[in-house]
Amino acid sequence: MKTIASPDHALHFPKAELSGGQLIRPYECPERWDYIVEALAASGFSAPQLPNALDMASVAKVHGADYLRFLEQAWSLWEAEGYEGEAMPMAVAARRMQQREPENINGKLGYFAGATETAITPTTWQAVQSSAACAQTAARLLNAGDSSAFALCRPPGHHAGYDLFGGYCFMNNAAIAAQELRDAGASKVAILDVDFHHGNGTQDIFYERNDVLFVSLHGNPGHAFPYFLGYADETGKGEGEGYNINYPMMPGTPYSVWSDALTHALDRIDQYFADALVVSLGVDTFERDPISFFKLTGDDFTRYGHAIGKRSLPTLFVMEGGYAVEEIGVNTRNVLQGFLDAQP
Ligand SMILES: [Zn+2]
Repeated sequence: MKTIASPDHALHFPKAELSGGQLIRPYECPERWDYIVEALAASGFSAPQLPNALDMASVAKVHGADYLRFLEQAWSLWEAEGYEGEAMPMAVAARRMQQREPENINGKLGYFAGATETAITPTTWQAVQSSAACAQTAARLLNAGDSSAFALCRPPGHHAGYDLFGGYCFMNNAAIAAQELRDAGASKVAILDVDFHHGNGTQDIFYERNDVLFVSLHGNPGHAFPYFLGYADETGKGEGEGYNINYPMMPGTPYSVWSDALTHALDRIDQYFADALVVSLGVDTFERDPISFFKLTGDDFTRYGHAIGKRSLPTLFVMEGGYAVEEIGVNTRNVLQGFLDAQP
């Protein structure tokens, strides 16, 4: 299994996140990437390869042109206002407000925000493009015949919607990968999101499509970020009806319950007869994750990697969350090793 990763990830390193009424160092930090690279190297995985330059063709099929223009220009517009801090949304286009892009950068930030904890820095856009390029390059490995690949993306992507950023995400790496697989001839692609948080951005992008099945296991949105999406009755719309499946679970959920949901999810993916599987891999389901509430242990990650591997689908793992930073490398490695151990 090849790993695609870019050192450009370190170009996105905001100083601050508003959390619990305080400006804190963001949970989503560059060391996360380092721990994963170290753990894979220590276990004999091949060294990461650099991605190719990002091809915007597939990106433009999952994100709006206005939104991509905003991401590209956000920092320069912010800087032109003379602000000294990092660009963060304040007012948002909430219920009963106009859904119309303002001219002012503060307005634009709020219009395109799905959440307000995520700052934009001078070099965020470069990191975002390189992260998406990792997913795209890894997808093209599958298109060329590899049976599996790992895109070590940072920043993560699954909270990025068609035209929304937030939850540490800007471009939806898993969605871009799924689109790449479709464009290369896969008739159906499944996305399995095992991050603790609901993949609200991925659901948003594919909600009215039946060529990409979206299945997510996550903290019940009544209790967990992103709060406003991820309930079981969200099943898709129009042609997408029946192709969006959510498994929200309550605080304290242990592996025994979580793994039953995973088995059910994998059965649904089998019944869909997907040509390829994209796994949105967040390891914030870990029992000691600081911002999550499931109770998976380190060995559980090996177990579920194995369960995914036994389904024998061409599989692309795309890195999402995981904030128990010192354990993120081992937990990620465990999933990938479990998967490989199940391969024929
Ligand atoms: Zn997460």
